[in-house]
Amino acid sequence: MKYSRQREMILQTLKDFPVHPTAEELYQELRKKLPRISLGTVYRNLNLLTELKVISQLETSGSTSIRYDARNDEHCHLICSTCGKVMDASLDHFASLDTIVLEQLGFAVLEHGIVLKGTCQTCLRQNETHTTQ
Ligand SMILES: [Zn+2]
Ligand SMILES: [Zn+2]
Repeated sequence: MKYSRQREMILQTLKDFPVHPTAEELYQELRKKLPRISLGTVYRNLNLLTELKVISQLETSGSTSIRYDARNDEHCHLICSTCGKVMDASLDHFASLDTIVLEQLGFAVLEHGIVLKGTCQTCLRQNETHTTQ
């Protein structure tokens, strides 16, 4: 009983997290609510939730640590090269891409593993203020 309550907390905290956190980042956040929780418990529950397909794991190139995603439906990721933040993007933005690929390459897209790298809004704004000064 105690363990499933912890799992609930872990899942809820992951959902509330603005970016896709690593297990360590999630652990730091969880400790504010559950001071006695251990990093091992966080790992175990994250693995279990991944196995149950409630959440998904995200492997980002250039980083050795696995990030966790509270969503397990298909969506795309935008990675900021400046601050390392990982954001979600709906597949709707890429619907026309499927049509182009089918029409021009004769390939029917079934799955998307789209990762776009660039600069996020916050970092773009910071750049602007730096260059205008
Ligand atoms: Zn950024
Ligand atoms: Zn995501």
